[in-house]
Amino acid sequence: MKLASYANGEWYRASGSGKVLSNAVSGEAIAEISSEGLDFASVADYARRVGGPALRKFTFHQRALMLKELAKYLMERKEIFYALSSATGATRSDSWIDIEGGIATLFTYSGKGRRELPNSNICLDGPQEIIARENTFTAQHVYTPIQGVAVHINAFNFPCWGMLEKLAPTLLAGVPAIVKPASQTAYLTELMFQHIVESGILPQGAVQLICGSTGNLLDQLDFQDAVSFTGSASTGLMLKKTPAISENSVRFFMEADSLNCSILGSDVDPGSVEFDLYIKEVVREITAKSGQKCTAIRRAIVPADRLDAVADALVNRLASTTIGNPASEGVRMGALAGLEQRADVLAQVEKLTAANETVVNRGSDIELIDADAERGAFMAPVIFYARDPLQSNANDVEAFGPVSTLMTYRDADEAIEIAARGKGSLVASVITADTQVATRLTTGIAACHGRVMVLNEACAKESTGHGSPLPHLVHGGPGRAGGSEEMGGIRGVKHYMQRTALQGSPDMLSAITGQWMTGSERKLDQVHPFRKRFDQLEVGDAVVTDKREITLADIESFADLTGDRFYAHMDAEAASRNPFFEDRVAHGYFLVSMAAGLFVWPGEGPVLANYGLDHLRFSAPVYAGDVLQVQFTCKQKVNRETEDYGEVRWDTTIVNQDDQVVANYDVLTLVAKQA
Ligand code: NAP
Repeated sequence: MKLASYANGEWYRASGSGKVLSNAVSGEAIAEISSEGLDFASVADYARRVGGPALRKFTFHQRALMLKELAKYLMERKEIFYALSSATGATRSDSWIDIEGGIATLFTYSGKGRRELPNSNICLDGPQEIIARENTFTAQHVYTPIQGVAVHINAFNFPCWGMLEKLAPTLLAGVPAIVKPASQTAYLTELMFQHIVESGILPQGAVQLICGSTGNLLDQLDFQDAVSFTGSASTGLMLKKTPAISENSVRFFMEADSLNCSILGSDVDPGSVEFDLYIKEVVREITAKSGQKCTAIRRAIVPADRLDAVADALVNRLASTTIGNPASEGVRMGALAGLEQRADVLAQVEKLTAANETVVNRGSDIELIDADAERGAFMAPVIFYARDPLQSNANDVEAFGPVSTLMTYRDADEAIEIAARGKGSLVASVITADTQVATRLTTGIAACHGRVMVLNEACAKESTGHGSPLPHLVHGGPGRAGGSEEMGGIRGVKHYMQRTALQGSPDMLSAITGQWMTGSERKLDQVHPFRKRFDQLEVGDAVVTDKREITLADIESFADLTGDRFYAHMDAEAASRNPFFEDRVAHGYFLVSMAAGLFVWPGEGPVLANYGLDHLRFSAPVYAGDVLQVQFTCKQKVNRETEDYGEVRWDTTIVNQDDQVVANYDVLTLVAKQA
């Protein structure tokens, strides 16, 4: 079977023979791969000309809903992907990470996109910046989608997750993507891609697929494009040096190899819960995906006096690891992705063997379940011990398979120094029940890592483990790990958008951003804004309320009603000893409640509920005798695509008789679309 690319809205199968790809378990040819003859300039052009505009016709929320639809579509067909996944050497649980983990990323981005992004194509970054005394000139940072194409180059180890974790934030941003899977496992990516196309959920040009070489694609890229690369540091660096990429300042995100570590705290005794957790994590990271995980624990850093106990426990656990055909019952560890990958790992193992002590290496002496050692890419776990952990080549050599090295430390400083010898990693874990040990180690190693997991009995049950990147959290790391980030929730979407500092009058910026800015006009209509349906309401619609004098009786009544008898409200002398007050001060929560009494329209109408407040600040004290007034302004509308209501955010400013702001906050309401 010749794998097909999907370019310019159609499937393309190269003529002539391609590179033969083999089943990782049986060694049989499974597919051929070639992209020969593809016109890469037209692929990039198609994405920019057709895919980008089509995606940007939709809002963040509409694209988020597409991701959800796509996730459901793929989930319904997951068994089709599982069936082929075992050919990559993956067990059912390895495939679960790849297939369902990947689909879950689409679901997460869909939810986050609708909760955390506006239902438009412009996204505000931080609050309005007040830059002029009279506020006739103001500023707001905004994000808008880049206008080019994202080229996604993926590693072989997660053919589905690797594609989906990059697609989710890119498509949500409104940017089309060209997916280039690693050849070795591209047959599984291609299968899932076929279903993505068949679903018809994404607009034309939103996604294209290149099976095989990317030819001169990278030479076509310019400053509105992006490359997101996952793979080895050497390939990444080579691609980053493509002249078009450096000369045109193309965004280049690199997720490269990483010598991640896990540190056992000095407080953890053999036999304790944390000790068992440590062993479990290290064993899992060696065996899951046969150690072909960029986040796997390559360096297990343990206190010198725990070395023997850790080594014994690891050897015992790994002795019972069953290896073989991943589709067979009872197999814990499958094969590497292919014979080439195994040859790479064995070459690295040789380098590690020359410079470190071998704790376990069964070599080719492995008993396989339902598989032929001569044909499949099987390998048993290998553990080394680095006698000199600071100088060991285990800090440099990545064997991308079931391989890990034990290292010992005398004190926390040394553990931190060893961790840093990885020269920047994706993830580290610290296993300890002692908060001081955890704080010392975590603050010592965080700068060298994109993620740090602190594990003890308290969080073990719900822990997602050392090796699992989550769509909510940043995945990436400094230095050798590539110096970039992916995912991290909406942070990952912003990688595909341009941040721009907008300056202008508040009215102008309100019109451009769709969010009312302080200093803009308030539209004071005869009709109270609470009487307007969501579609009738406009940003800037406002009420300036009647005035209300605050009395001592108000303060007393509120104290009686709520039981809040804090001295500053009740005792004039005590209040005046407080550096912030001169007299009994009104309760802040009374002001918020009183303000609602002033601004609400009481009758039944389109406002359905108040679901919270944001950014509440009390900026000046209010005393009996002060006269307050509320300026209540529609600040932002967020249309809920699938609901019959929208969200409306109201700027609420309470001022006193001197026009001084005493409180400011956003009131959040749900407003009906229909009467
Ligand atoms: P690789 O050999 O560097 O390949 C990575 C990707 O680059 C593949 O899609 C490969 O395609 C492509 N590629 C190679 N040469 C290219 C070129 N000249 N132009 C365009 N694309 C090119 O890495 P791998 O063997 O697939 O993956 C293993 C490595 O990835 C390990 O080092 C691992 O640590 C790292 N990794 C990192 C992460 C992370 O998130 N940081 C995740 C997974 C893996 P072909 O296969 O067609 O050559």
